[in-house]
Amino acid sequence: TQSTRPQRLLSAVQKNATRGDPCSVVKAIDQFCRSKEWAMNVGDEKGCILDSVVSELNPTTVLELGTYCGYSTVRIANLLPPHAKLITLEFNPDFAAIARQVIAWSGLEEKVQLVEGASGDLIPKIKQDFGVQTFDLVFLDHWKDRYLPDTKLMEACGLLRKGSILLADNVICPGTPDYLEYVRSSPRYESQYFKSHLEYTKVEDGLEKSVFLG
Ligand code: SAM
Ligand code: MG
Repeated sequence: TQSTRPQRLLSAVQKNATRGDPCSVVKAIDQFCRSKEWAMNVGDEKGCILDSVVSELNPTTVLELGTYCGYSTVRIANLLPPHAKLITLEFNPDFAAIARQVIAWSGLEEKVQLVEGASGDLIPKIKQDFGVQTFDLVFLDHWKDRYLPDTKLMEACGLLRKGSILLADNVICPGTPDYLEYVRSSPRYESQYFKSHLEYTKVEDGLEKSVFLG
Protein backbone atom coordinates (compact mmCIF):
# COMPACT_ATOMS: atom_id res chain seq x y z
CA THR A 1 0.00 0.00 0.00
CA GLN A 2 1.18 3.50 -0.78
CA SER A 3 1.96 5.93 2.01
CA THR A 4 0.50 9.41 2.21
CA ARG A 5 2.46 12.65 2.48
CA PRO A 6 1.53 13.12 6.17
CA GLN A 7 2.77 9.57 6.88
CA ARG A 8 6.06 10.30 5.12
CA LEU A 9 6.34 13.58 7.06
CA LEU A 10 5.84 11.66 10.32
CA SER A 11 8.51 9.13 9.29
CA ALA A 12 10.94 11.99 8.69
CA VAL A 13 10.22 13.26 12.21
CA GLN A 14 10.73 9.81 13.75
CA LYS A 15 13.96 9.38 11.82
CA ASN A 16 15.50 12.83 12.24
CA ALA A 17 14.04 14.51 15.34
CA THR A 18 14.82 13.87 18.98
CA ARG A 19 11.92 12.78 21.19
CA GLY A 20 10.94 15.54 23.57
CA ASP A 21 12.76 18.22 21.57
CA PRO A 22 10.14 20.39 19.79
CA CYS A 23 12.74 22.44 17.89
CA SER A 24 14.21 19.30 16.35
CA VAL A 25 10.70 18.26 15.24
CA VAL A 26 10.09 21.63 13.57
CA LYS A 27 13.50 21.42 11.92
CA ALA A 28 12.93 17.87 10.65
CA ILE A 29 9.60 18.87 9.09
CA ASP A 30 11.05 21.99 7.44
CA GLN A 31 13.93 19.95 6.06
CA PHE A 32 11.54 17.31 4.70
CA CYS A 33 9.36 19.98 3.05
CA ARG A 34 12.27 21.88 1.52
CA SER A 35 14.21 18.89 0.23
CA LYS A 36 11.54 16.23 -0.39
CA GLU A 37 7.89 17.26 -0.54
CA TRP A 38 6.13 20.61 -0.16
CA ALA A 39 3.41 20.56 2.51
CA MET A 40 0.95 23.15 3.77
CA ASN A 41 2.64 23.92 7.12
CA VAL A 42 3.03 27.59 8.00
CA GLY A 43 6.73 26.85 7.45
CA ASP A 44 9.99 28.27 8.74
CA GLU A 45 9.80 31.82 7.34
CA LYS A 46 6.23 32.71 8.42
CA GLY A 47 6.82 30.48 11.44
CA CYS A 48 9.29 33.05 12.79
CA ILE A 49 6.57 35.73 12.60
CA LEU A 50 4.14 33.36 14.34
CA ASP A 51 6.77 32.72 17.04
CA SER A 52 7.30 36.42 17.68
CA VAL A 53 3.55 37.09 17.99
CA VAL A 54 3.19 34.19 20.46
CA SER A 55 6.26 35.22 22.48
CA GLU A 56 5.23 38.86 22.66
CA LEU A 57 1.69 38.01 23.78
CA ASN A 58 2.59 35.15 26.14
CA PRO A 59 -0.99 33.80 25.84
CA THR A 60 -2.71 31.47 28.29
CA THR A 61 -5.51 30.36 25.96
CA VAL A 62 -4.88 29.72 22.27
CA LEU A 63 -7.16 28.34 19.56
CA GLU A 64 -5.76 26.98 16.30
CA LEU A 65 -8.06 26.38 13.36
CA GLY A 66 -6.51 23.72 11.11
CA THR A 67 -3.94 21.34 12.64
CA TYR A 68 -2.85 19.32 9.58
CA CYS A 69 0.28 17.43 10.81
CA GLY A 70 0.76 19.55 13.91
CA TYR A 71 3.69 21.64 12.70
CA SER A 72 2.32 25.02 13.82
CA THR A 73 0.80 23.35 16.89
CA VAL A 74 4.29 22.33 18.00
CA ARG A 75 5.74 25.78 17.23
CA ILE A 76 3.04 27.53 19.27
CA ALA A 77 2.87 25.05 22.18
CA ASN A 78 6.64 25.12 22.60
CA LEU A 79 6.47 28.85 23.36
CA LEU A 80 3.56 28.74 25.82
CA PRO A 81 3.98 29.16 29.57
CA PRO A 82 3.48 25.95 31.63
CA HIS A 83 -0.15 26.57 32.63
CA ALA A 84 -1.29 27.60 29.14
CA LYS A 85 -3.62 25.60 26.89
CA LEU A 86 -3.72 25.27 23.10
CA ILE A 87 -6.87 23.86 21.53
CA THR A 88 -6.40 22.85 17.90
CA LEU A 89 -9.21 21.80 15.55
CA GLU A 90 -8.86 19.38 12.63
CA PHE A 91 -11.69 17.74 10.69
CA ASN A 92 -9.63 15.21 8.72
CA PRO A 93 -9.16 12.11 10.93
CA ASP A 94 -6.10 10.91 8.97
CA PHE A 95 -4.34 14.25 9.52
CA ALA A 96 -5.42 14.31 13.18
CA ALA A 97 -3.90 10.84 13.75
CA ILE A 98 -0.56 12.00 12.32
CA ALA A 99 -0.66 15.26 14.28
CA ARG A 100 -1.21 13.41 17.56
CA GLN A 101 2.01 11.45 16.94
CA VAL A 102 3.98 14.55 15.93
CA ILE A 103 2.78 16.40 19.05
CA ALA A 104 3.60 13.38 21.23
CA TRP A 105 7.08 13.08 19.67
CA SER A 106 7.64 16.72 20.67
CA GLY A 107 6.60 15.97 24.23
CA LEU A 108 3.96 18.69 24.17
CA GLU A 109 0.75 16.60 24.68
CA GLU A 110 0.14 18.22 28.07
CA LYS A 111 -0.32 21.65 26.56
CA VAL A 112 -2.30 20.62 23.49
CA GLN A 113 -5.89 19.48 23.10
CA LEU A 114 -6.47 18.27 19.55
CA VAL A 115 -10.19 18.13 18.81
CA GLU A 116 -11.48 16.32 15.73
CA GLY A 117 -14.33 17.99 13.94
CA ALA A 118 -15.38 20.93 11.81
CA SER A 119 -14.71 24.40 13.19
CA GLY A 120 -18.27 25.54 12.46
CA ASP A 121 -19.65 22.74 14.66
CA LEU A 122 -17.03 22.97 17.43
CA ILE A 123 -16.71 26.73 17.98
CA PRO A 124 -20.22 27.04 19.50
CA LYS A 125 -19.39 24.20 21.94
CA ILE A 126 -15.98 25.43 23.11
CA LYS A 127 -17.15 27.36 26.19
CA GLN A 128 -19.25 24.46 27.42
CA ASP A 129 -17.09 21.50 26.45
CA PHE A 130 -13.61 22.87 27.05
CA GLY A 131 -14.12 25.35 29.86
CA VAL A 132 -12.49 28.22 28.02
CA GLN A 133 -14.10 31.63 28.37
CA THR A 134 -12.13 33.67 25.83
CA PHE A 135 -8.99 33.18 23.74
CA ASP A 136 -5.94 35.39 24.00
CA LEU A 137 -4.83 34.25 20.55
CA VAL A 138 -6.50 32.53 17.60
CA PHE A 139 -4.38 31.19 14.71
CA LEU A 140 -6.52 30.85 11.59
CA ASP A 141 -5.06 28.40 9.09
CA HIS A 142 -7.89 26.14 7.93
CA TRP A 143 -9.76 26.40 4.62
CA LYS A 144 -9.61 29.97 3.47
CA ASP A 145 -13.33 30.52 2.89
CA ARG A 146 -13.95 29.67 6.56
CA TYR A 147 -11.87 32.48 8.08
CA LEU A 148 -14.64 35.08 7.87
CA PRO A 149 -17.66 32.97 8.90
CA ASP A 150 -15.69 31.41 11.79
CA THR A 151 -14.50 34.84 12.96
CA LYS A 152 -18.10 36.06 13.06
CA LEU A 153 -19.04 32.83 14.87
CA MET A 154 -16.29 33.35 17.49
CA GLU A 155 -17.56 36.92 18.00
CA ALA A 156 -21.16 35.70 18.36
CA CYS A 157 -20.13 32.97 20.82
CA GLY A 158 -18.28 35.49 22.99
CA LEU A 159 -14.92 33.79 22.55
CA LEU A 160 -13.10 37.06 21.84
CA ARG A 161 -12.40 39.72 24.45
CA LYS A 162 -10.99 43.21 24.15
CA GLY A 163 -7.36 42.60 23.20
CA SER A 164 -7.77 39.10 21.76
CA ILE A 165 -5.51 38.62 18.75
CA LEU A 166 -6.43 36.93 15.50
CA LEU A 167 -3.43 35.80 13.46
CA ALA A 168 -4.40 34.65 9.99
CA ASP A 169 -2.11 32.73 7.66
CA ASN A 170 -2.20 32.71 3.85
CA VAL A 171 -4.04 36.00 3.53
CA ILE A 172 -2.38 36.58 0.12
CA CYS A 173 -1.72 33.04 -1.13
CA PRO A 174 -4.12 31.25 -1.55
CA GLY A 175 -5.72 34.43 -0.16
CA THR A 176 -8.66 35.35 2.06
CA PRO A 177 -10.07 38.50 0.42
CA ASP A 178 -13.40 38.63 2.27
CA TYR A 179 -11.70 38.13 5.64
CA LEU A 180 -9.02 40.76 4.94
CA GLU A 181 -11.61 43.29 3.83
CA TYR A 182 -13.58 42.60 7.04
CA VAL A 183 -10.75 42.95 9.60
CA ARG A 184 -9.23 45.93 7.78
CA SER A 185 -12.45 47.93 7.52
CA SER A 186 -14.24 46.95 10.74
CA PRO A 187 -13.96 49.49 13.61
CA ARG A 188 -13.88 46.48 15.95
CA TYR A 189 -10.37 45.48 14.76
CA GLU A 190 -6.96 47.06 14.43
CA SER A 191 -5.19 45.12 11.72
CA GLN A 192 -1.63 44.81 10.48
CA TYR A 193 -0.04 42.85 7.60
CA PHE A 194 3.25 40.95 7.97
CA LYS A 195 4.73 40.41 4.55
CA SER A 196 6.49 37.11 3.93
CA HIS A 197 6.41 34.18 1.52
CA LEU A 198 4.24 31.14 0.98
CA GLU A 199 5.73 28.23 2.93
CA TYR A 200 8.86 26.80 1.29
CA THR A 201 8.56 29.08 -1.78
CA LYS A 202 9.43 32.59 -2.98
CA VAL A 203 5.80 33.47 -3.73
CA GLU A 204 4.47 36.43 -1.72
CA ASP A 205 2.19 35.56 1.19
CA GLY A 206 1.80 36.94 4.66
CA LEU A 207 0.10 36.90 8.02
CA GLU A 208 -2.57 39.38 9.13
CA LYS A 209 -2.55 40.23 12.83
CA SER A 210 -5.80 41.74 14.03
CA VAL A 211 -6.50 42.98 17.53
CA PHE A 212 -10.15 42.68 18.60
CA LEU A 213 -11.12 45.99 20.17
CA GLY A 214 -14.37 44.69 21.69
N1 SAM B 1 -1.73 25.01 10.78
C1 SAM B 1 -1.05 23.92 10.11
C2 SAM B 1 0.43 24.19 10.12
O1 SAM B 1 0.83 25.33 9.84
O2 SAM B 1 1.20 23.28 10.38
C3 SAM B 1 -1.53 23.76 8.68
C4 SAM B 1 -3.01 23.63 8.53
S1 SAM B 1 -3.51 23.22 6.88
C5 SAM B 1 -3.07 24.65 5.97
C6 SAM B 1 -5.28 23.36 6.99
C7 SAM B 1 -5.95 22.22 7.74
O3 SAM B 1 -7.26 22.63 8.13
C8 SAM B 1 -6.14 20.94 6.93
O4 SAM B 1 -5.55 19.87 7.62
C9 SAM B 1 -7.66 20.76 6.84
O5 SAM B 1 -8.06 19.40 6.90
C10 SAM B 1 -8.13 21.53 8.06
N2 SAM B 1 -9.48 22.13 7.94
C11 SAM B 1 -9.96 22.82 6.89
N3 SAM B 1 -11.17 23.31 7.16
C12 SAM B 1 -11.47 22.93 8.44
C13 SAM B 1 -12.59 23.15 9.28
N4 SAM B 1 -13.62 23.88 8.87
N5 SAM B 1 -12.57 22.59 10.51
C14 SAM B 1 -11.50 21.87 10.93
N6 SAM B 1 -10.41 21.65 10.18
C15 SAM B 1 -10.39 22.17 8.94
MG1 MG C 1 -1.20 28.14 6.18
